Amino acid sequence: MKAAAARVAVLGAGLAGATCARMLTDAGFNVQLFDKSRGVGGRLATRRAEWTAPDSSLQRANFDHGAPGFNAHSQDFCAFVEQAHRDGLLARWVPSMAPGSYAPLDAPALWVPVPDMPALCRAIAAGLPLQTGCTVDGLRREHGGWCLLSAGETVSTELDAVVLALPPPQAAALLAPHQLAWAQRLQAMPMLPGWTLMGTTTEPDPGANTDAGWGLGWPTSGPLAWVVRNDAKPGRIRTPGQAQWVLHATAAWSHTHLEAPAAEVQAALQQALAVWLGRSLDWQHVAVHRWRYASVPRAAATPGRCWWDAGTGLGVCGDALGGAGVEGAWLSARALALAMTAAP
Ligand SMILES: Cc1cc2nc3c(=O)[nH]c(=O)nc-3n(C[C@H](O)[C@H](O)[C@H](O)COP(=O)(O)OP(=O)(O)OC[C@H]3O[C@@H](n4cnc5c(N)ncnc54)[C@H](O)[C@@H]3O)c2cc1C
Repeated sequence: MKAAAARVAVLGAGLAGATCARMLTDAGFNVQLFDKSRGVGGRLATRRAEWTAPDSSLQRANFDHGAPGFNAHSQDFCAFVEQAHRDGLLARWVPSMAPGSYAPLDAPALWVPVPDMPALCRAIAAGLPLQTGCTVDGLRREHGGWCLLSAGETVSTELDAVVLALPPPQAAALLAPHQLAWAQRLQAMPMLPGWTLMGTTTEPDPGANTDAGWGLGWPTSGPLAWVVRNDAKPGRIRTPGQAQWVLHATAAWSHTHLEAPAAEVQAALQQALAVWLGRSLDWQHVAVHRWRYASVPRAAATPGRCWWDAGTGLGVCGDALGGAGVEGAWLSARALALAMTAAP
């Protein structure tokens, strides 16, 4: 595809969309980025919570309620994260494991964007034309180019190419009228759901230093898969006398309780933490979030890690094609940008 003046819309400003948009822009394409959320990051997400304490003071805490962190294995992704580390966008987190955790052979060591999870995507997408709060719900072919539709309005026209960097079910809905075979393959891809609890409790010992405690727990049974002390992660704000928790339920438990009322899920996860810790907790603030499409099961990447049809100008990337997880999303986006910028 010829870069000069080529107009490309990238749908989804998670890591895949931000990375693809950045690489295409750097190669000379005229790129617009769209996301339905208020900001970038997608499942690299941080929730800002505010509540009023019993003494009427305003309290605040941030919770990384999507991916807690990620690993890097491939040479290309390792090179990317090491550069991001040098640029101050990522920190290495080697959490102390909670007693009673599943014990892996190697201690977990995760990359964590700082100061919050979307920070990595914010840096990658900095300066790119970005429209947030825009759910693209239709693609139309008109006068040889693509149009984007959102809530009955045309939001972009005369596009030479459209990149879908969306979770598979959302990409499938847009592709069905134009690329039925791709849509059917995306629709058939399994996605794991996840219920997440975000909350703060009063520390049993107000003088306790979270550095001296543990940062991560992997329960071996029950509803909880990950117990994260969010305030033990690098670059996060710590409040004396307060513990900040992010609890991720297992995919199986989340699947069984997918349509359960939030209050019921919240109570069950609070109870699960108390049972696992073996003590009662004094909750100050608590909320839950349901990820209908949290992650894709680890699997071999799709051949080529992306789909690109130069004839129609449609491209698809994201974790589901790249082999799962944050690394899969980045590898897929890079593969698509390279395919699109390759000589015709
Ligand atoms: C609870 C949880 C735990 C996880 N744990 C890990 C882990 O330990 N390690 C790991 O590697 N990965 C983990 N992941 C998965 C990881 O976060 C994802 O694989 C990765 O972030 C996916 O990036 P992406 O860019 O492909 O998709 P996303 O980040 O989902 O980005 C897609 C974007 O598209 C936008 N969008 C969707 N539909 C539309 C539309 N119609 N119009 C416009 N915009 C739209 C969304 O708002 C979103 O911003 C976890 C995820 C969750 C939720």
